[in-house]
Amino acid sequence: MPRKLFFVADLSYTLQQHLKWKKFLPEIHPFYAVKCNPDPYVLRLLAALGTGFDCASNGEISQVLSLGVDPSRVIFANPCKATSFVRQSAKAGVDMMTFDNTDELYKISRAHPNAKLIVRILTDDSKSLCRLGLKFGAPLVTVPFLLTKAKELNLDVIGVSFHVGSGCYDSAAYADAIRRARSAFDMGKEAGYEFTLLDVGGGFEDAMFEMAASILMESINTYFPVRDNLRIIAEPGRYYVAKAFSLAVNIIARRAPHSIEGDSQDIEADPEQPKVMYYVNDGVYGAFNCIVFDHQTPQPYVLSLNGSFHVPSSVPTCPSSVWGPTCDSIDCVCPVTHLPGSLRVGDWLAFESMGAYTICAASQFNGFQVSNVIYTTGGGAGSAEVRNALRSCA
Ligand SMILES: *Cc1c(COP(=O)(O)O)cnc(C)c1O
Repeated sequence: MPRKLFFVADLSYTLQQHLKWKKFLPEIHPFYAVKCNPDPYVLRLLAALGTGFDCASNGEISQVLSLGVDPSRVIFANPCKATSFVRQSAKAGVDMMTFDNTDELYKISRAHPNAKLIVRILTDDSKSLCRLGLKFGAPLVTVPFLLTKAKELNLDVIGVSFHVGSGCYDSAAYADAIRRARSAFDMGKEAGYEFTLLDVGGGFEDAMFEMAASILMESINTYFPVRDNLRIIAEPGRYYVAKAFSLAVNIIARRAPHSIEGDSQDIEADPEQPKVMYYVNDGVYGAFNCIVFDHQTPQPYVLSLNGSFHVPSSVPTCPSSVWGPTCDSIDCVCPVTHLPGSLRVGDWLAFESMGAYTICAASQFNGFQVSNVIYTTGGGAGSAEVRNALRSCA
């Protein structure tokens, strides 16, 4: 039987994250960033839980609408869209979309003149894993001009969005961004608009979520103290799915170039030099593309040792490296980590927190297939709720 790699997705984790969101940010309506992980069950669950969806393309819009989601629950949050996509979103009834330049305004005025526009402003993204400001976001100084242009074109601008960068590790970035959004709201007023939407984007890291939420709300209270006519939304991606997915991979080959059996006299050898090289059946061209694109450093743990799934915690380890299955040397999963030297071909390794920016960007380079997902609703209290939610959106 082929030992295919597989993901395990615990959908109860996504439910828990949603409940945590509602507890800490009850005023902010989440629009899940589909690009992060467009898994069909994740989308169905979130659709049933009532989130909105941040789509980056027409393909994502179709996928979300096919679940029966109303087009008013979708924001087309890519500031640079193909004209055909804008036209199709007009047809589909998706009106909310972002922009950050005048060319986009001309395009939208031709292809979707009734769109509800959101100006994406540039904020400080220097404290994040994936900086997005290089590519998107209008510097504040350009916003008055953009809004004047939008007014000339008779376009409806309804608010402001930003993104502090994906994987934001300094929650203060949200405070600075809210301050800038306030300026953009004032510029809107100058240009003759009455903005009603504030979109605080994504970037939420689970480990710092409560801190980010509290800084965010504090800044909103400071800069938007009166908000009866203000709707606040966000575009979390990673937050909902990163820890929901684990990946199990199989060891397909093994090399011990620096023999662990003999040669202990070799005093010059760096003790941290990997002594065993393990080759597994997924790599940077597959789910581990997150190492390249998302700047992650996944760490394996042992699922089976010598064919047994009872792995004693005391088993001795040595510096090892883990490699992907392709013929390319860039395909390294872990340059050095500590694993038992006695793992065999056929044994399993696993990686946690593999749900964000992994499967969706995997290629089939070298003829390898994209992995399967096995779903669970968890054993805990949320299990029945997840099942009911999925059923309601079947
Ligand atoms: C990628 C992206 C997101 C999601 O970001 P996370 O860091 O995963 O929360 C949200 N909004 C936009 C516009 C994005 O490009």
